[in-house]
Amino acid sequence: MTFRRLDTADAANDLGGKRALVRVDFNVPMHEGKVSDDTRLRAALPTIEMLRRQGAKVALLAHFDRPKGKRVPEMSLKPIVEPLAALLGAPVAFADDCVGEIAKAAIEALPAGGVVLLENTRYHAGEETNDPALARQMAALGDLYVNDAFSAAHRAHVSTEGLAHLLPAYAGKSMEAELDALDAALGNPKRPVMGIVGGSKVSSKIDLLKNLVSRLDRLAIGGGMANTFLYAQGYDVGASYCEKDLADTAREIMENARKANCELLLPVDTVVSVRMEHGAPVFTRALGELDEDERILDAGPETVARLTAAMDASKTLIWNGPLGVFEIPPFDKATVDAARHAASLARAGTLVAVAGGGDTVAALNHAGAADDLTFVSTAGGAFLEWMEGKPLPGVEALKV
Ligand code: ADP
Ligand code: MG
Repeated sequence: MTFRRLDTADAANDLGGKRALVRVDFNVPMHEGKVSDDTRLRAALPTIEMLRRQGAKVALLAHFDRPKGKRVPEMSLKPIVEPLAALLGAPVAFADDCVGEIAKAAIEALPAGGVVLLENTRYHAGEETNDPALARQMAALGDLYVNDAFSAAHRAHVSTEGLAHLLPAYAGKSMEAELDALDAALGNPKRPVMGIVGGSKVSSKIDLLKNLVSRLDRLAIGGGMANTFLYAQGYDVGASYCEKDLADTAREIMENARKANCELLLPVDTVVSVRMEHGAPVFTRALGELDEDERILDAGPETVARLTAAMDASKTLIWNGPLGVFEIPPFDKATVDAARHAASLARAGTLVAVAGGGDTVAALNHAGAADDLTFVSTAGGAFLEWMEGKPLPGVEALKV
């Protein structure tokens, strides 16, 4: 994918004293007014440090929560200042507004290599409407724009999209790593390329499934959504979670896969229980063989063996959605076994393995597999829209 990178000659050229407006994702978990997980702060460090080394003045733009165009004190970015300064090992100034005289003065006051965090962009209603007047005001504060917030790139807001049209615009280091990984997984992958899609519902992932069957060589379907596919093929699913009204959609996706020569890997055996709780009696069953009060809560061992063999035969894997109710052992088994297999192949260098999605990240961490995969996206909505094949406005605006 060709987009403007921060270390390309034109950007790296003489950033000394230049004002860089840097969009970051600081929408971090907070507990009692304190940052409770600093993963997103850490993700912004490579870009900030690079700009500091070059003597730029760094003004950070971010949103926090949903103040909907009003100043909501509980949604201030101020609590970020201290932990960010500690991670950077350098002072971080704060400006009470992201536009206007307050912001301008705070940026002017910075020494070369200095950092200021500007207050929540969503305090202004124009942010989310991508208001041109707000965009011009914000653009007036900087000499260049750097977008390092892939997770907000599915939104066309002033700080994620509008600014890119008014200033020289570049992808930050985090954004760059994300785009390169996504490109390696789906844009321009080494083939054969395999997908795993799981999770609870077909209804939330119809566009994603339709896009993937047209682009992948094989696609495994697991989790609750596989029940809908089994039902659509005529199997009894007992008391399983199943969207029976989507049987036609499931059949349409199967037909699309056939036409596109994408091999569909549906479950061939299942793990069932009457109760979705720890310690409930658990049985491994053939398809369709379950009592009316039993539910499919995980993929069976045969299914996992087929999946891992398919991984062995693939060069690239893209994964979203757990294969079972991984939060409640033993229904984590298929997900954990598959994740560890993918991790070992990625570690050995024979598989490019990219995964993303809120519950998927939790499941991969639970399996101890996240660190060994090639890339794990924590971007949530932006990652899913990208898997759906939708252009992301924040990324489109950085393309050359
Ligand atoms: P992500 O957040 O990674 O995109 P989803 O939100 O689509 O993933 O799906 C995750 C949820 O799917 C988990 O809470 C998991 O318990 C649920 N799930 C997986 N398999 C089943 C199943 N067989 N029955 C019901 N729920 C399931
Ligand atoms: Mg989820």
